[in-house]
Amino acid sequence: MRSYLVAGNWKMNGSLAANAALVDAIAAGVSIAPKVEMLVCPSSPYLDSVGRRIAQTGIFLGAQDLCEQPVQGAFTGEVHSSMLIDLGCRYVLVGHSERRALYGESDALVAEKFAAAQAGKLIPILCIGETLDERESGQTEAVLSRQLLAILDRNGIAAFANAVVAYEPVWAIGTGRTATVEQAQSAHAYIRSELAKNDAKIADLVRLLYGGSVKADNAASLFSCEDVDGGLIGGASLKATEFLAIYAAALAA
Ligand code: PEP
Repeated sequence: MRSYLVAGNWKMNGSLAANAALVDAIAAGVSIAPKVEMLVCPSSPYLDSVGRRIAQTGIFLGAQDLCEQPVQGAFTGEVHSSMLIDLGCRYVLVGHSERRALYGESDALVAEKFAAAQAGKLIPILCIGETLDERESGQTEAVLSRQLLAILDRNGIAAFANAVVAYEPVWAIGTGRTATVEQAQSAHAYIRSELAKNDAKIADLVRLLYGGSVKADNAASLFSCEDVDGGLIGGASLKATEFLAIYAAALAA
């Protein structure tokens, strides 16, 4: 039985004061329920303050990125997995489409980040998904396979026993254009079947999140899909009432 994960990616937003107000409002509506894990991923400078604020609330802390290097050292501007653990992180996003598109992260680099996360005892949330061009030219499954294969080749199928995959069609992120229930379920079933070729049990247990303009009014239908185990939420995670309504949809699913 897979639990749900509702993860808020705050992206490069926030301030000490705004984050405190947001996280307090979210915490007020979260109960410690085994069925759903609630996660917030603030910008790195705010991990410490948000982490302190969510202690004892049942909300988990995650980072938006990490350095691929296995050991600390001369990598100016980068953040090592051990630092994220120090600050109380449990999860870290790897390969978000904004990192891939705007900062040139290749499949190979994402695979190294995935490895670095697990070596540091963080749970990677691997983000994969196709662009609009790729979908319209019928390449969705090929793109998902390629992005998964990079991780499988580097880390092996066993690595997915302690990882999460987020299917995030690039054309749905921040656009207000959500994948239909059929598109989401079909992509998720495909991801699970690709992993099942390597290990059926691991594929069955891995949590697959949908991300891309999830809102309070579409979360319930997305979460009702057999292979959707929660969501990676950008814009809507910055509004406590909206984010809590998405959480409620996961609880009710
Ligand atoms: C995201 O940032 O991963 C995301 C899915 O954003 P949004 O929910 O705003 O589309």
